[in-house]
Amino acid sequence: MIEVENIVRDFGAFRAVDGVSFTVEPGEVVGLLGPNGAGKTTTLRVLAGLLRPASGVTRIGGVDVQVEPLQARRQLGFLTASTGLYDRLTGREMLQTFGRLQRLDEQTLSSRIAALSEELELNAFLDKRCGSLSSGQKQRVNIARAVVHDPSAYVLDEPTATLDPLASRDILELVQRAKARHKAVLFSTHRMEEAEYLCDRLLFMRGGQIVARGTSTELLTLSGKQKLTDAFLHFAGATA
Ligand code: ADP
Ligand code: MG
Repeated sequence: MIEVENIVRDFGAFRAVDGVSFTVEPGEVVGLLGPNGAGKTTTLRVLAGLLRPASGVTRIGGVDVQVEPLQARRQLGFLTASTGLYDRLTGREMLQTFGRLQRLDEQTLSSRIAALSEELELNAFLDKRCGSLSSGQKQRVNIARAVVHDPSAYVLDEPTATLDPLASRDILELVQRAKARHKAVLFSTHRMEEAEYLCDRLLFMRGGQIVARGTSTELLTLSGKQKLTDAFLHFAGATA
């Protein structure tokens, strides 16, 4: 469902992503780990068609993101930290606006908003202006917005980074339900317990490359560590 083949992306003379390849199958949850600056966000932005790679190919549902970006994005739910909400719109208006942009008919859109509002517990604040919401509430609306068109591939950049444990749990449950519905899910996180608990496979990035990949058990074995946090430090080059 998600295919990334040997992508390279430079910022000036700096190579931020250096030959990254991986796939995510339907029903699979893959975690992207690595220290700040490793190239995770850049990889996800290239995958989503927001940045052009110097070379390499990305496909969503078999559609080349560079060649047919609109068609590829119709199958993609993409969330990054930089995604903003319009302060003057309510959450419901945001979801309606984005659903219409994705060309959902009104009936599908309203049942989709009802379902997401149930799943992500948006009911209490869905009709308030986004500008008046807490950061956790905003993040929930953001996630609902990213998947309002019920895409087949979810790509989430640190979806729980700004959330308290309760709100994080809702997001993690959303990921689990997405998996159960055969969505392909790729998400980056710095929370090792989340990665261990949710992900079928992990990709560990450093210096623009994937330096280790496998199940959390395999990464522990590879690193010779007992805890994923220690494996993280190992792969980040912080320990021998
Ligand atoms: P991560 O998400 O793993 O923290 P990023 O993909 O955001 O890493 O960044 C990877 C590297 O690319 C960093 O060194 C960062 O400074 C650099 N970088 C990212 N975006 C830009 C940009 N728009 N212009 C210049 N350098 C960038
Ligand atoms: Mg990042």
